[in-house]
Amino acid sequence: MPATAPTGVGHLRGEESFPAAARRALGDAQLRRNLRHATTTIRAKSGAVIAEVPDWPELRAAARAIKTDTMARLPELLEQLEAAVTAAGGTVHWAADAVEANRIVTELVRAAGADRVMKVKSMATQEIGLNEALEAAGIEPVETDLAELIVQLGDDRPSHILVPAIHRNRAEIREIFLRAMPGVDPALTDEPAVLAAAARRHLRETFLSTRVAVSGANFAVAETGTLAVVESEGNGRMCLTLPETLITVMGIEKVIPTWRDLEVFLQLLPRASTGERMNPYTSMWTGVTPGDGPQAFHLVLLDNGRSAVLADEVGRQALHCIRCSACLNVCPVYERTGGHAYGSVYPGPIGAVLSPQLTGVADNASLPYASSLCGACYDACPVMIDIPSILVHLRAQAPHPRAEAATMAAAAYTMDHPALYAAAQRAARLSQLAGPRGRGLPPPLSGWTASRDLPEPPPQTFRQWWAQR
Ligand code: SF4
Repeated sequence: MPATAPTGVGHLRGEESFPAAARRALGDAQLRRNLRHATTTIRAKSGAVIAEVPDWPELRAAARAIKTDTMARLPELLEQLEAAVTAAGGTVHWAADAVEANRIVTELVRAAGADRVMKVKSMATQEIGLNEALEAAGIEPVETDLAELIVQLGDDRPSHILVPAIHRNRAEIREIFLRAMPGVDPALTDEPAVLAAAARRHLRETFLSTRVAVSGANFAVAETGTLAVVESEGNGRMCLTLPETLITVMGIEKVIPTWRDLEVFLQLLPRASTGERMNPYTSMWTGVTPGDGPQAFHLVLLDNGRSAVLADEVGRQALHCIRCSACLNVCPVYERTGGHAYGSVYPGPIGAVLSPQLTGVADNASLPYASSLCGACYDACPVMIDIPSILVHLRAQAPHPRAEAATMAAAAYTMDHPALYAAAQRAARLSQLAGPRGRGLPPPLSGWTASRDLPEPPPQTFRQWWAQR
């Protein structure tokens, strides 16, 4: 079995279980108001633009087919990508895990003689804890995405894949800027345009004076060696074009076979994520172009547990994810708890299936249960990932409490022995005589009925009905 993501580095494991973290989050009324407002707004916007596309179901099916094909021949496609990037003047590095990826990036930044890097929003670099690794090496990382900047200045953690500061409202953002943004106007108001202008002024100096940028990648085309980043603010385009050295850290699952495949994903992604018809900024680059853009390009291909996910025939669907965050926005659990409760940088339904697989289920054992299995995530997912089935699959792998394991073993034994089963059914009928239901099961099984009614046994069992005929 391939290795899972190592402990002690990166942000895939929470410090407490989901139920404990969720309970605290549920007590934060401001957080719940912010989340409800943001997810409701994005859902409505996204639903409206998806309704405009007559072949949306066919696009989803095409995306699933492309991703399934990609996973079936991932090693071959990655080698094709490496050859194409190298032929175009780039350098490819293979990182088995977060430790190796952080070391590679740190050494590249040092070799470029820089002590500061500007960053395009990237889930992969958050996953591996790159900012912390750079800071430990005396290199200052500057997030240039507005929401990531808010999170960084607030010494906070992202709580949504696409809108990392979704848990903050504008009054809170103003306070963060006044407290942590160098040179900010003390008369700053909480008008969105004023806050954006303050961030723009702060970042402009960084864009013009920083020689190394670090990005993630939304897609990498194996046949051409082209990398693609989609974003909404233009900060990504600045980072991808202005510096002398560009380092891209990309999860190995982001590769797609052909240029033509981009056509499918570039239609699906903006409508499912931000509710836009197309991305405001779609940047693509292929290796190095003399006299234009960064003159050194490094691509770090990150595994960090992905090969282990790929090895699981049910769970590997999680690698199809294009990080649109649609599943978060429709999830009744996420809407109430927010992203921090999931512990990992990947929150919501996709986090509940991806994080436990990257780390090994035992390290994130409560996450597969962070769902009501309502199926809204499956309906919303533009690449048709069957998240509920993966959740059930992972629940079977999670360590179970002794009482539950003993109960299930006893139930299995009973069902395997017809006479015992018939006796159990008679006993259940007799228990009805003991009085009205609704009191639940006695300990240690009482947890199961704490929020469920114990079903009434039917007046007649199937065996009795059959015997009568
Ligand atoms: S699982 Fe599907 S809906 Fe959720 S972020 Fe990934 S692509 Fe989007």
